[in-house]
Amino acid sequence: MPSFLPKTLLLFCCMLVAFAETLTPSGSSPETSAAWVPAEGPPDVLYQTVEELRSFYKLTAGTRSSRKGGYSLTHADTSVELGPGARELRINGVDITLARPFMRDPDGKLLISREDWVYWIDPILRPLYIANRSAVDTVVIDAAHGGHDTGVACAANSEAQITLLTAQALRVELEKAGLRCFLTRTDDYFLSDRQRVDNSNSTPNAIFVSLHINSSNAAAEGPTVYVLSPSSIAQTERPGGTFACKSAALAYALQYALSSETRSSGGGCRHTHYNLLSSLSMPAVSIELGYASNAKEAAALCTPEYRSRLVSAIARGILNYTRATAPTATMPVMPSAPKKTTVQKDATREKLPNTKAKPDSSPDKRRNRRPRRKR
Ligand SMILES: [Zn+2]
Repeated sequence: MPSFLPKTLLLFCCMLVAFAETLTPSGSSPETSAAWVPAEGPPDVLYQTVEELRSFYKLTAGTRSSRKGGYSLTHADTSVELGPGARELRINGVDITLARPFMRDPDGKLLISREDWVYWIDPILRPLYIANRSAVDTVVIDAAHGGHDTGVACAANSEAQITLLTAQALRVELEKAGLRCFLTRTDDYFLSDRQRVDNSNSTPNAIFVSLHINSSNAAAEGPTVYVLSPSSIAQTERPGGTFACKSAALAYALQYALSSETRSSGGGCRHTHYNLLSSLSMPAVSIELGYASNAKEAAALCTPEYRSRLVSAIARGILNYTRATAPTATMPVMPSAPKKTTVQKDATREKLPNTKAKPDSSPDKRRNRRPRRKR
């Protein structure tokens, strides 16, 4: 039996109690039950009041948030914190960067976008309501880079070397837990994104986990999990956003486990336009294991001991996800107990709007001010 199971089971017990009475919504989907309205900005971007979201999940509005200037919605072990940044959301201690900033309507009510509610929040809070849940028995593990494409330099090693070692260790851990694994790359050779996609898409009942190492400033630290951005989803997704919702739930489960293990919130869960993810026909995430630009973390990533901790956390996250979204699941089993983590400083953070917000005229420009992610 894998060593992480007792901790996982303990979490399950907490969660079963928390979710049993918490998330009994007034409708089966926020898409159909909420009255979406356009706000200033692109006409196809719809918003809903945060009050509607609170009421939908029967959360209680609290005054205390772990972050100054933020709002908090809670019930039992479930915690949803909004702000203080205009794109900042924290669910059960896991940071989520919103696709769209919070807005305010003419009456001053705080608004949240449909994309963020439907593709981020709902699959995380209610994995049982994800459409077309299906059993997962295989994990496609993608060790990024390889061959002449070494990725970023990470202390004495390269990103390509570390992601391969991590992928191989993850395969061992997941196979011990009864999952099949397929590695897109098994040695130090180059693979194009197209080859990675073509080799992966024929794998049935699978999820896709790509492994990378980030690089930014010397202070940045911790893991980050990326999913496809809503604009990319719109181009590639089948109606209903099946993979988008599953990917969001997977990203949350992974980031929760990784943040708990490393005691760092890292970059949390974020969106990316990564082409590889947009071509995959399965739930897919890209994990940045840490920052090569942080000397201490780079040195740790070069050690088998630290990688082993990351591998155990990733395996825990994957198992939590597969259980929570299994067709036979009858209760949500996503982690819900908040954990204390360090907060990564982000000087570019936008604040929650105090008054009626200006339209978000250039979301891409805003995203580009974030620490750049290297692949
Ligand atoms: Zn990379």
